[in-house]
Amino acid sequence: MIARIVANPISGGGRSMDLADRLRGHLEKIGYTASIYATQAEERFEALFDQACDLVAVIGGDGTINRVLNALPDNPPPLAIVPTGTANVLARELGLSANLEALCDWIEKGWFREMDTLLCDERRFLLMAGAGLDAEVTRRIALSRKGRWSFLSYARPILQAIRGYSFPPIKLVLDDHLITETASAVVITNVATYGGPMRIAPDADPCDGRFEVCVIRSRSALRFLLLLAHAFLFKRLPESKVQLLQGQRVALTSPEPVPLQLDGDFFKTLPVTVAMDGRKVRIVAPRSQT
Ligand SMILES: [Mg+2]
Repeated sequence: MIARIVANPISGGGRSMDLADRLRGHLEKIGYTASIYATQAEERFEALFDQACDLVAVIGGDGTINRVLNALPDNPPPLAIVPTGTANVLARELGLSANLEALCDWIEKGWFREMDTLLCDERRFLLMAGAGLDAEVTRRIALSRKGRWSFLSYARPILQAIRGYSFPPIKLVLDDHLITETASAVVITNVATYGGPMRIAPDADPCDGRFEVCVIRSRSALRFLLLLAHAFLFKRLPESKVQLLQGQRVALTSPEPVPLQLDGDFFKTLPVTVAMDGRKVRIVAPRSQT
């Protein structure tokens, strides 16, 4: 059997390539011939899958997983995830860790979850799409991402976004029903948690064929920060301030430029359509999570 190990050398403080070497050793013990591909953000991932394989291991964060997802061929092989990113939202959701022995044990047993994939215009994603202030932060981070990377590289764009964002109204149509024309932020999520510890959609099931929509109407930076503070303290958003819906197709528009992020990276400005992709991706995971 053939395995491909895709590792982001920048992720995990530089230990991804070491993990990739060790994972190759583990996989060889259970009958795989594994090759390692170091990725850079600009690299085209499609070439990775010119030849068929039986397993794809991804060593990196949610951004690397998203890029691999968008390069997968039809009828893709299972993905084995070794989380080394900052937030590791997918890994938290599925109960994954960087324990290579456990991962190879699940691979041998054929344990995986069949996770829904979503489409935002033509781009696939597994976790969430956010329109509003959170996406403005990712947009400003993308703009300033050059030179040396430090704490200030994050702090500055976050402060700029909070100071400069004008909360334009977002129109939300869910499964052909107009929900609102005045949302200030919308998060469409396949998973329960947002960015790590916050459970914004506690009932989300990433395998049930529909996504959760979180609608926020607070229109000022102060109210937004209070919402975030509540979410950090209580690990969920205040129910009175947030509308939670479920569906399979969302159209977001705005009369003004509103940014949108996918899985934590700036993607584009509205309008966009988000819909269930109709195809699932198998992710190696512990059985207790199924
Ligand atoms: Mg779901």
